[in-house]
Amino acid sequence: MGRVIVVGAGLVGALLSILLSKRGCEVEVFERLPDLRQSNVVNGRAINLTLCQRGYSALDCAGVGDIVRGLSVPVYGRMIHSVKGDLTFQPYGENREAIYSIMRNDLNRALLDYAELQCGVNFRFREKCLDVDLSGISVQMTNSGSGLTTQHTGDRVFGADGAHSVVRQHLQRASRFDYVQRYWEQGYKELSVPANAGHAWTEHRNALHLWPRRDYMLIGFPNLDGSFTCSLHLPYEGNSSFASITTSDALIDFFNGSFPDAVEAMPSLVEDFFSSQPSSMLTIKCSPWTHGNKLALVGDAVHSILPSYGQGANAGFEDCEVIYHCMEEYGDDWGRIFQEYESRRRPNTDAIADLCIEHFSELRDRVGDPKFILRKEIERKLTSACPELYQDLYYMITFTPIPYAEALRRNQAQTAIVDQILDNYNLSAHTTTVEGTNLIDKLIQERLAETRLSAKKLASTLSPLHH
Ligand SMILES: Cc1cc2nc3c(=O)[nH]c(=O)nc-3n(C[C@H](O)[C@H](O)[C@H](O)COP(=O)(O)OP(=O)(O)OC[C@H]3O[C@@H](n4cnc5c(N)ncnc54)[C@H](O)[C@@H]3O)c2cc1C
Repeated sequence: MGRVIVVGAGLVGALLSILLSKRGCEVEVFERLPDLRQSNVVNGRAINLTLCQRGYSALDCAGVGDIVRGLSVPVYGRMIHSVKGDLTFQPYGENREAIYSIMRNDLNRALLDYAELQCGVNFRFREKCLDVDLSGISVQMTNSGSGLTTQHTGDRVFGADGAHSVVRQHLQRASRFDYVQRYWEQGYKELSVPANAGHAWTEHRNALHLWPRRDYMLIGFPNLDGSFTCSLHLPYEGNSSFASITTSDALIDFFNGSFPDAVEAMPSLVEDFFSSQPSSMLTIKCSPWTHGNKLALVGDAVHSILPSYGQGANAGFEDCEVIYHCMEEYGDDWGRIFQEYESRRRPNTDAIADLCIEHFSELRDRVGDPKFILRKEIERKLTSACPELYQDLYYMITFTPIPYAEALRRNQAQTAIVDQILDNYNLSAHTTTVEGTNLIDKLIQERLAETRLSAKKLASTLSPLHH
């Protein structure tokens, strides 16, 4: 299958190298940073991420799924923290469905080890790609240790060099290349909660902790050692923003007012907050993703998305799995492989990019809102009553392999079902009190038959689910 150069040994580049070598390619990977297995370098991205069924499908295809499972914490739902410190658990599903929280470097290390030791992939660290010759096809690298610049030729090049991809920048100069980029209005900083922080909420280790506060939010990811990594999402400017919090006192006041139970578990809050600049998040869509039968982009290099659904790496892993299956189907017809890869993936990553923007506002503004909770409750009941007809959007994205664009299409039809129930029974008057929840439960139980009927009627316009 020839000699393949991969630029970038992040999560997607490392997984791709395994799958390419399993299909018989000789793979060489160039990474601008030192080997993180020796230097524990953090490349400026989120420390933690969550993997779901899509990511694991690709990891299993590569043979590393079980290794990665052993490094992650299962998370069965969201634990919502009110300002008063009340906790409400929202399970992801009825059957202990879980996403998996993992440290980025643990995942990357496992992939690098497997690629190198089990698949014979050749990694070249501290090699930064400067230039790509699209006619060749060759890449120019500069070594950050020696300063030497070298040229490397392969049969094919994959750009897995992240959102600010140099490989993509070279494609961008080709004619008729479309490119859209949009920064999110908020940034984030990471804050740590040590193991044994001694606060009651930290005992809930198998949950994603959320402090939604309308204009900003805090998210806590559990780690294997009992610690949590929290991600504070704030506007850059304005009230309660990164610009407005400039002193330790202002920071503590802000946390005491907004996240009082979190601050108690964060002994290094001031140091964590002031030791770094806020990181930005952006959406990138572009096309084409490939150049003839010579070059393709994968992962964030070609579809950077907001992290609201926790899908960026999962989607990048799906890219790799699709490339693998296209190689199975089309042998060494790389023109066809690249064509199929792009046509199977681009409509889906465009769809998840849009959904992530929408969901970010939902997480921040609405997750603690009684109407939103009610809606989720109805969706949960519908999923449980008619799972073959109804699955909510988060469920389809996170716990099924349904392509993102198809999930979006089904959700548009399904939203009408919930709207109908809300309109019919005027449930939105009820709040999150125990009485309210019981009443909602009772009403939904009473109307279950009717719900089934209306769900069935509306669902008759939907195609059957994949499984
Ligand atoms: C706050 C936040 C939370 C997130 N949470 C989740 C989550 O829960 N679940 C999820 O699935 N995704 C999540 N993501 C998204 C996920 O981090 C990315 O989608 C994923 O890292 C993409 O992997 P990648 O390998 O394509 O790119 P990257 O991780 O950016 O890796 C690119 C690699 O290329 C190297 N490189 C760059 N330029 C060059 C060059 N010129 N020459 C050589 N090498 C180069 C870089 O050093 C890096 O190692 C989150 C992202 C953010 C910002």
